[in-house]
Amino acid sequence: MKKIIVVGSGAGGGTITRELASKGIDVTLFEKGPSTKIGNAYEHYENLDVGVELIQTSCIAGTTTVTAGNAVRTCQKYLKNMGIDLEDDFNEIEGEMGVTTLPDTHFGNGTNIIMDRAKSLGFNTQKMPKFIDPKTCKPCGKCAFGCPRDSKWTSKEYVGEALDQGAKVIANTEITELITVNGEIKGVKSNDKEFLADMVVISAGSIETPRLLRRAGIDAGNNLFVDTFVTVGGILKGIKFNSEVQMNGLITLDDLIMAPHYSGLLYNKLEKYGASENDILGIMIKIADEGSGKVREDYIEKYSTAKDVSLLAKGSAAAGVILKESGVDPNTLTSTIARGAHPGGTAAIGDVVDKNLETEISGLFVADASVFPKAPGAPPVLTIVALAKRLARYIENEL
Ligand SMILES: Cc1cc2nc3c(=O)[nH]c(=O)nc-3n(C[C@H](O)[C@H](O)[C@H](O)COP(=O)(O)OP(=O)(O)OC[C@H]3O[C@@H](n4cnc5c(N)ncnc54)[C@H](O)[C@@H]3O)c2cc1C
Repeated sequence: MKKIIVVGSGAGGGTITRELASKGIDVTLFEKGPSTKIGNAYEHYENLDVGVELIQTSCIAGTTTVTAGNAVRTCQKYLKNMGIDLEDDFNEIEGEMGVTTLPDTHFGNGTNIIMDRAKSLGFNTQKMPKFIDPKTCKPCGKCAFGCPRDSKWTSKEYVGEALDQGAKVIANTEITELITVNGEIKGVKSNDKEFLADMVVISAGSIETPRLLRRAGIDAGNNLFVDTFVTVGGILKGIKFNSEVQMNGLITLDDLIMAPHYSGLLYNKLEKYGASENDILGIMIKIADEGSGKVREDYIEKYSTAKDVSLLAKGSAAAGVILKESGVDPNTLTSTIARGAHPGGTAAIGDVVDKNLETEISGLFVADASVFPKAPGAPPVLTIVALAKRLARYIENEL
């Protein structure tokens, strides 16, 4: 029987492993990080300061462990225009993950005030669709630490199903190199240990995937975007917004999105004015940044372009107006540094991989956020999962 190796267990890797295992295919998943309780995922953040702060986690289920549970069909039209139709995959995924907006019981005062004032000011507002189960979720504001009640979808669910279907899952093992012969993939190496396979899928995330590809001679690692965001906030005494479900509402402008969001970085700045963590109300501004970054073996470069900065300024001004109308003391308004939680673009479709996500090395595929051709400017997990499902069907047909 043909063997497939998957590298990385996040949104892309967890999905492809489960899909291949469910088709009876011999699949082995390697994950650099350890297995962890979802509630302890915050211990596995591996953030990088590269001009913007890049946020990611390394453990079984990767960065899906710390999402806000936002479920959006990012880039669907764009990919369809490229000949990649994900409609059926999205429908299937939304059913499997139970995507829905949360009931009123899961909206706190801070979110309600922001969304109400934004609507009155004429902004386009809606509830955020979530892959969070309202039956087990008790709002606590800890999604980004790893849900203490395991109430949101993470790819750990898919990895568990893959194990049940006979997949091998090997944690704490970093893949360091790809084995290729005459333009064909033959397996992977973890330091001096070799693991042979007929096909390999790299899902190591948008920073490590291009590094592995580059070591195999592929010109990956260009066009890095991160969906740059800042959180603007200020003091509203006693609002207790920090223990609400975060990003439960969505405010859309033409070229950026905003969402109610608490950040501990705001507390660090507002503490000196006598604020406790219970006294802060904030809004995240997220943009589809230009692919100005670069990943190389020994450095990562990512700066904000003039266009990125002007969009962040436009969003921050709008957020300031909404927060003031919401009762925040305008003299206390401040912003976090620029950060990025959706790195992608470093092995883009049409550049490094073809529409079947295959590289120039035969049998070597990529299934993670690296393959996005442009910044989504919105939560990417559903689209990564949809692309991985589509790739699993392609691989099954090729075997
Ligand atoms: C705080 C936060 C909140 C977010 N909220 C949302 C949200 O609400 N909705 C949404 O859609 N998106 C959200 N995202 C983004 C989303 O989590 C990521 O876009 C997504 O997980 C990326 O999937 P991926 O498969 O590319 O990489 P990852 O999920 O990062 O997985 C990559 C995996 O590969 C492993 N790995 C790396 N190198 C190697 C190697 N050499 N060998 C073996 N294993 C390796 C890593 O340890 C990691 O486990 C959020 C991100 C953050 C940081």
